[in-house]
Amino acid sequence: MFALMTNKEIYRSYLQQLQQLYSPNEAATISDWVFEKVAGLQRGDIIKNPAGLINFDISGQLDDCLASLLHHKPVQYVLEEAWFYKMKLKVNEQVLIPRPETEELVKLVVDDWKLVIQNNLLAKDNQQLTMLDIGTGSGCIAIALKKQLPQITMHATDVSTGALKLATDNALEQQASINFMEADFLDESGWKKFSEYDVIVSNPPYIPINEKESLDKNVTAFEPHTALFVPEKKPFLFYEKIAYFGEKHLKKGGKVYVEVHENFAKETAKIFEQRYRVAIKQDIFEKERMLIITKRMTE
Ligand code: SAM
Ligand code: GLN
Repeated sequence: MFALMTNKEIYRSYLQQLQQLYSPNEAATISDWVFEKVAGLQRGDIIKNPAGLINFDISGQLDDCLASLLHHKPVQYVLEEAWFYKMKLKVNEQVLIPRPETEELVKLVVDDWKLVIQNNLLAKDNQQLTMLDIGTGSGCIAIALKKQLPQITMHATDVSTGALKLATDNALEQQASINFMEADFLDESGWKKFSEYDVIVSNPPYIPINEKESLDKNVTAFEPHTALFVPEKKPFLFYEKIAYFGEKHLKKGGKVYVEVHENFAKETAKIFEQRYRVAIKQDIFEKERMLIITKRMTE
């Protein structure tokens, strides 16, 4: 219990205990994040005033957070917030914690379409550019896109009611107008509700369930399995559906941007190659992580 300990003593205790699970740098980053959110203290405040006492309520909250962290709970779930594309979003255990590689996926879309929109190339049809995010989770991709490209009409779908509730809250908080729709994307009989889009974006579940043992406990014990895993025998399930969906629901010349498993980019690309043009993109760690898929103008 942290009752009547000084700032410095509690902070040091955090660092020491978190190093059972994390590297010294990670332990410091996590401690800074928790202290700032829970106690309103930055590391500089602790250095300037090491003997300051933390009030009883707050030291109790710091204690609770540390207990959760030591049970491998990711700090984003402990604090119920995560950063994505410079936005602070709410997260809970119903949604995947947004990943930095997914920010790179958003960047690809923004870079490709910013100029098109600026030059108003689509205005001649008097149509607004429409985008769909499949498996939106916290809403991170859809919200970031709508904020970066305010002129677009953004749609987003997920099978999880809990995820959609959170995504709706996040969109409101970020003042991003998004049309959310609950649907099981794997059930083709529900596709009638979807229209035709210029852009489809998705970070679908793609980890074969047999890889579960190789993941960190932080991920497998806390993140939603419907967000992560696909059957071992059907690892490309979502990509196959997206390829088929695109035949009717992607405009000619439209594009699909997907995040893929770093070991299976080429296999995933093959699924689209018969009907689309496909480019594999690397992330900053030079892992093959994303595909840009273009629907031909002529069949
Ligand atoms: N887009 C978010 C992100 O990048 O952080 C979440 C991505 S997470 C890997 C995949 C999402 O797909 C989860 O939110 C999950 O609920 C959703 N999902 C899983 N199966 C689905 C299905 N059959 N139909 C629609 N969404 C599904
Ligand atoms: N990139 C995530 C991870 O490594 C998985 C996201 C996904 O399945 N789409 O945990």
